[in-house]
Amino acid sequence: MVVTGSIDKVREVIREARKKGKIVGFVPTMGALHEGHLSLIKAARRDSSFVVVSIFVNPVQFGLKEDYRSYPRNFKKDIELVKKEKIDLLFYPPAKAIYPDGFSTYISETCLSRALCGKSRTGHFIGVCTVVAKLFNIIEPDIAYFGQKDYQQARIIKKITKDLNFPTKIKVLPIVRERDGLAMSSRNIYLNSKEREVARCLYSAINLAKKLIKKGERNSRKVISKMEELMKSKKRVEIDYIEIVDADELNDLKRIGGRALIALAVYVGKTRLIDNIIVNVK
Ligand code: AMP
Repeated sequence: MVVTGSIDKVREVIREARKKGKIVGFVPTMGALHEGHLSLIKAARRDSSFVVVSIFVNPVQFGLKEDYRSYPRNFKKDIELVKKEKIDLLFYPPAKAIYPDGFSTYISETCLSRALCGKSRTGHFIGVCTVVAKLFNIIEPDIAYFGQKDYQQARIIKKITKDLNFPTKIKVLPIVRERDGLAMSSRNIYLNSKEREVARCLYSAINLAKKLIKKGERNSRKVISKMEELMKSKKRVEIDYIEIVDADELNDLKRIGGRALIALAVYVGKTRLIDNIIVNVK
């Protein structure tokens, strides 16, 4: 496994792999790796003959009041985990390599980015799109892997890949959950034991929505109110949003039909957690 922070070295190693006819699979991450990340790496290992993982806590996607400085970083453990997965290349650049002095070019997806998390995290998706576009230009992957956990992000990446003619195929993999249903996230370690306990309510709310829809409820407002009710019964929980939108364009759905995304973002204490589910309704 090659471990490097140098863009030139990455290009050189990938050029050599390509000469040997390798298929390059790429998993971008911000590190503090968990089973969710590993599921993407395992998928890459299955599909491709050369697996690249990046670990980069991207300063540009964090708001001023967000947790860039305190974001969990655990490079030693991460390196052991990716070694076990037998990846070929770990790209671990310093911020200055990605954003040198004078950097002034940003990628902005202007439609899907306005929905859901885009409303409360101004500029977040500009940061995400910019770093992903840069990583795609550096690595030139055949396939790149993203998690449904960040559904909106994956949807936007698919859009910029198409709009900007990146030749990369985007694969989106299911949410990996803890035993009690909480979606795995690097940020879960911020939760104290009380908060960890109430954090299960995100998954409970999703299951409640699923149940109501299965029973025939099609009115989004009614489903959302029930989810809100469940959340409001919990201490230390503050809803950022609960929305039901169509899964492709992320437009509000008044009546639930077709491929619908039920997405929520919730503060548990100071930690912002997200979760979602897609339901297919005839
Ligand atoms: P992050 O390190 O949080 O930027 O995540 C890197 C990639 O892992 C993104 O594509 C995430 O959607 C994905 N990911 C994070 N958590 C999970 C999870 N619980 N299940 C599946 N994929 C995940």
